[in-house]
Amino acid sequence: MSDVSLEDIVSLCKRRGFIYPGSDIYGGLSGTWDYGPLGVQLKRNISNLWWKTFVEDRDDMYGIDAAILMNQKVWQASGHVGGFNDPLFECNNCKNRFRADHLVENWIDAHPDKLNAVIHEAYNQSPETLNHYKNLYKMACPNCGKQELSDVRQFNMMFKTHVGAVEDETSVSYLRPETAQGMFVNFKNVVDSFYPDVPFGMAQIGKAFRNEIAPRDFIFRVRELEQMEIEYFVQPDGWREQFDYWLDQQKQFLIGLGLAEEKIHQVEIGPDDRAHYSKHSVDTEFDFPFGQKELLGCAYRTDYDLSKHQAASGKNLEYRPKDGGTPYIPHVIEPTFGLDRLFLAVVASAYCEDEVNGEKRSFLKLPAHLAPISVAVSPLLKNKPELVAKAKEVFAMLKKEFGSVTWDDNSNVGKRYRRSDEIGIPYHVTIDFDTLEGDNAGTVTVRNRDTTEQTRVGIEDLVANLAL
Ligand SMILES: [Zn+2]
Repeated sequence: MSDVSLEDIVSLCKRRGFIYPGSDIYGGLSGTWDYGPLGVQLKRNISNLWWKTFVEDRDDMYGIDAAILMNQKVWQASGHVGGFNDPLFECNNCKNRFRADHLVENWIDAHPDKLNAVIHEAYNQSPETLNHYKNLYKMACPNCGKQELSDVRQFNMMFKTHVGAVEDETSVSYLRPETAQGMFVNFKNVVDSFYPDVPFGMAQIGKAFRNEIAPRDFIFRVRELEQMEIEYFVQPDGWREQFDYWLDQQKQFLIGLGLAEEKIHQVEIGPDDRAHYSKHSVDTEFDFPFGQKELLGCAYRTDYDLSKHQAASGKNLEYRPKDGGTPYIPHVIEPTFGLDRLFLAVVASAYCEDEVNGEKRSFLKLPAHLAPISVAVSPLLKNKPELVAKAKEVFAMLKKEFGSVTWDDNSNVGKRYRRSDEIGIPYHVTIDFDTLEGDNAGTVTVRNRDTTEQTRVGIEDLVANLAL
C-alpha cells in the first residue's frame, strides 16, 4: 500500500488545478473528470515520453490516429457487440443496478471471517460463482436493504449512438471502448503504404469510452479514458520472446516515470480470467493508495482480430513475406497503457510530506522531465520596480531555454514556496536586493524543491546549474 491517501491526492489535484470533477458547476457527471492547466501538461509530458520512447525512437513502429466513431461492423467482428459485458445485479424492489463483482467484493471486505479463505477478489469470477455467493450469504441491496437482487445479468459497456439524421439499426455506432481496433482495421493500409518487415508495430494514443456501472477511485475507473496502445505484429512461432520483451519494456517505462520498482507487480492472468481474444496475459499492477490494482496490460491476441476482420470484411489481411514465403496472418502482442492510471500512479508516487521549520509541508517530488512547470521566478518584492525589472530579465532568459517557466509575485516568499512545492516545481528562483548590488551582485537565490536548500548562483551560470 502507498502511504498517501486518495483523498489527499484528489484534494491537491482540485485545489492546485490538476484535475476537476467533470461538469463541476452542475454537480458533476459520474465517471468523468476534467484536466486543468497543470494536469493537462503533466498528462501530456507522460504521453509525449511514451510516444518518443515507443514511436519516434524506434524504426519498427507506425503511429496512427484513427477516428473514435467506427463502422458498427468493426465491433460486431471484434466480438465487442456480443461480449464486452460487465456482470450486474438488479434489485427487484428499488430497481437500482450494481456491478455484481464489486458488490460481492465489498461484502467480502465487510465480512472477512466468512469468505477470506474462499476468494480474495470477485473480479472476473463467473456469473455462476457470483450468484452462488449472493444466494449463499443472502446479500441484500445496498440501496434499499431488501434481499431481492436478481441473478447476474450481462450489461454491454459500449456507449451506443447514431450516425447521421436517421435513427435506425443501420445508423448505429459506438464510442470506441478501446483504441486497438483502429489499428487492426488500418493494418492493410499501413502494410500497403510502407511494406514493413515483420515484426513491426502500430501505436496509437486516444480516448476510449466504457459505460462503467460503478466508476470509482478518482481517475482509476472512469467512463471516458485515454489509452496508449501498441499492436505488435509477429510471426506466430516468435510470440513468446516478443511477449517477454514487451513486458519488460512496460516495466522500464514505469521506472522512467519515477515509479518505485518494489511497487510494481507483474501478475499472470489465468485462462478463465483472460479476455476473449487472449491466449496469454500479464497485468502490471501497482500499489495505489487504495490497494494493488491493474496499471498496464500485456496480451497475446494471436491472429484473433485480423482473422475476424478478414472474415467479416472479405478483404485479404495476410502478410506476404518479402522472401516469397507463404502468406500468413501475423500474430499480435498488445502492450496497453492507461494514461489516466499512469497519471494517478505518478502523482501518488510523487506525493510527499515532511516538516520544514516545524511546519508540515506537502510536496510533489515529480521527476524534472515530467513536472508541468520546471522553474518559478519571483522578485522578492513586487512593488520594487528595480527587482521586478531584473526578475523579468531572468524570467525571459529561462523561459526561452526551458519553456515551462512560471512567474510568481503573489503574496510572500514563504507562501510562494509552499505553492511551488505543492505543484512539483523543481526549482524556485528569487531575485532580491543582493542580486542588484554588493558582493553578491549578479547572483540569484535558487531553492531546491526536494531539499528546500537555497544556494546563490550567478545569473550567467543559471541555465547550466539547473538540472532540467
Ligand atoms: Zn434495492
